[in-house]
Order: sequence, then C-alpha cells, then structure tokens
Amino acid sequence: MNKVIVLTGAGGVLCSTLAKALAKQGNKIAVLDLRIDAANKVANEINADGGIAIGIAANVLEKESLEAARKVVNEKLGTCDILINGAGGNHPLGTTSNPFLQEEDLLNKTEGFKTFFELDPEGIKFVFDLNFIGTLLPTQVFAKDMVGKTGCSVLNISSMNAFTPLTKIPAYSGAKAAVSNFTQWLAVHFSKVGIRVNALAPGFFLTDQNRTLLTETDGSLTQRGQQIIDQTPMGRYGEPEDLVGTTLWLCGEGSKFVTGVVVPIDGGFAAYSGV
Ligand code: NAD
Repeated sequence: MNKVIVLTGAGGVLCSTLAKALAKQGNKIAVLDLRIDAANKVANEINADGGIAIGIAANVLEKESLEAARKVVNEKLGTCDILINGAGGNHPLGTTSNPFLQEEDLLNKTEGFKTFFELDPEGIKFVFDLNFIGTLLPTQVFAKDMVGKTGCSVLNISSMNAFTPLTKIPAYSGAKAAVSNFTQWLAVHFSKVGIRVNALAPGFFLTDQNRTLLTETDGSLTQRGQQIIDQTPMGRYGEPEDLVGTTLWLCGEGSKFVTGVVVPIDGGFAAYSGV
C-alpha cells in the first residue's frame, strides 16, 4: 500500500495489532499514544521486524499535542494518508453497579455502589471526551494532510454498543454512538475531497481494560462474561487479529467506493436477539 498511516492509541491492545499488520503491507506507521513507552515499544517491534515506524507521544484531547505530532510525522515519514482513531475507552465513574435499577438499590449504602442517580457528570464527560472529542481532534489535525491527495481515508473505532447500548455503561455506549454518527457525518462532509471515512464496531475483545469484568482470577468467566458468550452466536470473544482483514479492506483500494459504513466485527452479537 505504501501509505503513511497514523494510529492513535496504538500502544494499546487492538491498535498495536493493526499497526503491525499495516506495517507488514509496506506502510509507514506513526504509533501515537499518551503513553510514550507503549508507543515506542510497538514502533521498535515493527522496526525490528523489518517495517518502518516511529513512536510519538500525543494526547488526542489536546490539539497542540496533535499538531506537534503531525510535524514529526510530516518530517520523518511524509504527509498522512490514513488516520486510524484508536484511542478510546470507558471509565468506572460512568458505569452503574447494576444492570437494572431496583427499589432497594436506593437504600444500598455499600462503599462504591452506584445507581444511575449517583453517576458523576465528570466521569461521563471523561468518557465522551476521550471517545468523541478524541476522534474529532486528531481528524481535524491529520485529515488536513489528505486534502488534494488520492487514496486517503479515516477509520474510526466505534463499538457494537453503539447499535444497542449495553447495560451499566451509558456513557461509553452513548459516546460510541456519537462516534458512529460522526463517521457518517464526516463521510458526507469529506466526500467531495475524496477522503473516505468508515468505522469498525468491535464486539467483545478480552483486553486489560475489561479482563477483571469478564474473567475471574482463575481464568473462568464471570456472570457477565458468560452472558456475553451466550449472546454471541459464534460463541467466543474476539481476538485482535479478527480486526485486521476489515481494516486492510477499509484502508485499501478494494473499498474505494465505500464510505460512511460502520462494520460490526462481533461474532454475530449485534445481529442476535437472544431468541
Ligand atoms: P487499550 O486500552 O488497550 O488501548 C487504548 C490506548 O489509548 C491505550 O494505549 C492508551 O494509553 C491510549 N490513550 C488513552 N487516552 C489517550 C489520550 N488521551 N491520548 C492518546 N492516547 C490515549 O484499549 P483497546 O481495547 O485496544 O481499545 C482500542 C479502541 O477500541 C478503543 O476506542 C476502544 O473503545 C475500542 N473498543 C474496544 C473493545 C474491546 O473489547 N477491547 C470493543 C469495542 C471497541
């Protein structure tokens, strides 16, 4: 493909896998992450494997930080052809303790127990900012490089919970719904300058973020973990590698007439009513 590809949050589980797969296709990779150590580790692994990559510290919530990163990318690799907005995630402050409110919950004074009524607006704002603003700002900065070129695109990372919200996580579900909606909006807005905009909607992937929610210390599934598997027709969690084929397709020539789509990669979770 021979493109300059910028990935945010690429020190993390899913996007580090995408960065490595895209490097194998002959692309130059800018690995951006808030955690410079994690970004450098991924870039070093790509370079050691014969690819071309640089690690750059960048905060997707600060435009100056992103502008500084763009300067480094432009100087060292060239102008950006493809942006993958991978930084994102949830926060416990935007999460309720129970899936359904029960009357007795209002009397529960257990430390840390949280109903909808106690959700902290700051926690909810954190999640909306990280996922939505953290997608918008890098696009403002890096998509400028794409105007006037051909073969450029933006790939956002939404989630299957954008189609139907998951219990307990109203902030994360709402923020990812905003990412899906923005993907369509931007696809239309950028259509006349030839920049395609699409998104992946991953299902459940076992990562550090959710491991304690989904598995016990002995590796067996928690109740929620089992519920997810029961609701997934293909009967397993996703592996980061499951995202690679769709990413290569959406970033490549094979999808040159595809824009504004959000592709579920979820083993059938979003398609299944449970009956
Ligand atoms: P991860 O936590 O492993 O990776 C996220 C990375 O983003 C981390 O390396 C973190 O340092 C970085 N980051 C956090 N805040 C940042 C900021 N302000 N600026 C720059 N970088 C920042 O998570 P992951 O599972 O690899 O998730 C990647 C994306 O996929 C996220 O958008 C997530 O919401 C989404 N997703 C994950 C799953 C899943 O099951 N893991 C499912 C659906 C969607």
